[in-house]
Order: sequence, then structure tokens, then C-alpha cells
Amino acid sequence: MQTILIRHGRIIDPSQGIDQISDLLIRDGVIKGIERQIDSPKGAEVIEATGFVVTPGFIDIHCHLREPGFEYKETVATGTLAAAKGGFTTVCAMPNTNPVMDTRSTVDYVLNKAKSEGHVRVLPIGAVTKGSLGTELAEMGELAEAGCVGFSDDGHPVADSNIMRQALGYASGFGLPIINHCETPELFRNGAMNEGWVSNRLGLQGAPNSAEETMVARDIALAEMVRGRIHLAHISTAGTLELVRNAKAKGINVTCEVTPHHLTLTDEAVMGRAGGDESAFGPLGSAAYDTYAKVNPPLRARADMEAMVAGLRDGVIDVIATDHAPHNSVEKLCTFQEAAMGISVLETALGSLMSLAHSGDVPLRVIIDKLTTAPAKFLGRSDIGTLQDGALADVTIFDPAAEWVVDSDKFVSRGKNSPFHGSTLSGQVVTTIVDGKIAFAVNSTEMNKN
Ligand SMILES: [Zn+2]
Ligand SMILES: [Zn+2]
Repeated sequence: MQTILIRHGRIIDPSQGIDQISDLLIRDGVIKGIERQIDSPKGAEVIEATGFVVTPGFIDIHCHLREPGFEYKETVATGTLAAAKGGFTTVCAMPNTNPVMDTRSTVDYVLNKAKSEGHVRVLPIGAVTKGSLGTELAEMGELAEAGCVGFSDDGHPVADSNIMRQALGYASGFGLPIINHCETPELFRNGAMNEGWVSNRLGLQGAPNSAEETMVARDIALAEMVRGRIHLAHISTAGTLELVRNAKAKGINVTCEVTPHHLTLTDEAVMGRAGGDESAFGPLGSAAYDTYAKVNPPLRARADMEAMVAGLRDGVIDVIATDHAPHNSVEKLCTFQEAAMGISVLETALGSLMSLAHSGDVPLRVIIDKLTTAPAKFLGRSDIGTLQDGALADVTIFDPAAEWVVDSDKFVSRGKNSPFHGSTLSGQVVTTIVDGKIAFAVNSTEMNKN
């Protein structure tokens, strides 16, 4: 197998508390050591990483690969290529496919696709309820056996409290979390964006923060009662953060994730970028709103976004997850109310997150931790999310300062739906290594054979 020597990079490995300029050796698909200087073994591929950051491969515990059933939005092949381009070496696929991943056969189908066509490691998440209809529990034992790393009806909340109670109980028998998309339907109604001054000004139906917080509070109470393990997907409000903080202080088994967009954008993004030209206003050109900024949960007010940043910095938020939700352009080329909810995130995640490091709001090592070691811990894996000797050789190399203008037409993802289209981001993935093999390289001529 291939031997790869990565030279002179700034190695950041939160699992070992490492942040130093060093060389990293990979052989036979595993990490073989970090030293100040490693002589190049004969036949090794040498990657010159001076000025670059070298980290464990990023792990995304929440993305939508859309296959089977919605191949016009994304496939396992295109979604995992987008992941590799974004520096992700492992992605967890949500089950809201068609058919829903609520049986072993659908899980096997996705895993086989990943094996034959995937560019990164894919871990499936099984449905909580049959068809994700919210009425009858799926065969969780079968799904756990098939390799599911958690259960979720994401896209929809588990609205029935008794079903949630049962689900938390069963899942804890397998040591797996229930991952809930917290949204109380009676409060959310058909909210198209955050309820606030922007929704008032645009005349759009808003969803209030309490739609999220009431279900978060319920889930925490149920997890406490049945001693279950609840993971809150894509949290977005300051109120949710306080609920999680208090629950953790009480020792309740709750974890949560935040997306790059809820850390960096507010509901004002729905208005498009003031001062931009027509191309800066999403798929409808110079319309009054940008359907690319329509996402669920919605982009919130500035105070909520700032609370997410603080929660990431102080550790209440466990993991950064993309909630990569690719859609076909047609599904965004319509009125705001009708537009599909979701953002194609994988290829802009690092660039947008780096703005938090560059501004000093969140230390780079914290961002790297929440993309690598922390999600590995969530998954209970010690062989990924780390650069320890013997770990699987999943490595991400990025240029922290490279500026680039987002052109979503150039995404390898089928989903071009990005509110970052036209934005300048600083920070770009250079090379992604999965299982000791190069899954993505921005420019192969920069690498020298030795
Ligand atoms: Zn969701
Ligand atoms: Zn999702």
C-alpha cells in the first residue's frame, strides 16, 4: 500500500493536544507517527505542507446524501465527493431517503453504494419510526445490527412524546442516541424563516425560537426519565443552549450539534446581500429574498447566532455538523414560501468556519476539535478523529488563509443551493486522505513523487 509523508505542516490533533510544525507519516492505511523531522521512505509520496494545517479527517455526523430515491438532488457518489472536497473523511447519512432507511435492506443498499462509488467513509443513521411517519417504531435492533450509528426521523421531529419516550428507551439498549430535529409542529406551522423583524418586513410566515425550545425541553425531560441518550440536531437558539447547559449540569445524557451556517449567518441573509449585483441574490436574481438562505431550522437573529458561537467556544455545543441538504435548483426557483428548505454545505463548511478563527471568536483548535475528535467521541470511535499511531489514516490538509470566491455552480455536489454563493471565504482544503489514500487534492501538481 501507499506510503505518504506529509512534511512541515502545522499539525493540530485535539485528541493528543498537539499543535506543532511537524512531519506525519502514513503507511498501510494507518498513521505511523508524528516527528519534527521524518526522512522520506523510499517510494513515498511526499506532500509539502508548509503553511498548511494538517488535522485528523473531518467527521460530519449529519448530512443528507439523498440516495436512494432523490438522485436528482444528490447521490452517494456526488455527496461523498463533495465531502472529500470539503475535508470530510467520514459522513453520517440521514435516513430521509425513498424508501426511508428503516430496514436493513435500505441500509445495506446505501453501504454497498458507499463501498463501490463512495469517496469517503459513510455511516448510516436509521429511522426512529417506520417510514419516519412518527407512529410506529422502526426495527431498531435490525438497524443497529446493520451498522446504524444512531436513529433519527430528521427532516421531521419525533412529535409524539410517547413514541419518543419508547425510542429513547430502546435505543439506549444498543448504546445509541436518538437524534432529534426539534420542532414543535403547532408552533412551527408553515414557518418559512425565523420569526422576527426580518420576517415582518418581508411579510413572510415566521417560526419562533420557542418551536425549537419546547421540544428540546421535552426531549431533555424524557431522556432524564428513561435514562436515554438524546442528541439534538442543528440547535439554533440561545434558549436551547441554556436548556442544554442546565441539562448537562444535571448529568442528563444530552449532546448537541451546530451547523456552520447557524454560526455565521443571521436571518438577514434571507434578504440577500445588500449592495451586491443581481448574481448575489440567489436563484431568483434581484428578487427581494434569497431562497438559498431558506433552511430548517431557520437562520436566526444575531443574538442567537452569537450565542451559538459562545456555546461552541465554551464547550456546551459538542459537535459541528453540516446538515448538508442538497436540492435541485428548480426547488429553489420559486416563491420563498414554496422553496425547499436546506443548504448545500459540505464544500463551504471549512471556509465559513474559518471566519470564526480569523476573527478570534473561536480558537482554531476548538473548531478542529468539533470537526474531528469530538464527533469521533460522539460515535464512540477511537480509530478516527485522531492522528495517534495506528489510527486509520484519515487526514485533512488545508490552507487556512487561501481566499476564494464561492461559485456554487462549480460545486461537485449536485446541490448548488448555497447562500454563500458569491461570498469570499478564507480557508480552503488542499488534500483529503481517506484510509491512507488521497480522496481529493486541489492540485496534484503541487505534490512531488520522491
Ligand atoms: Zn433537521
Ligand atoms: Zn438534516
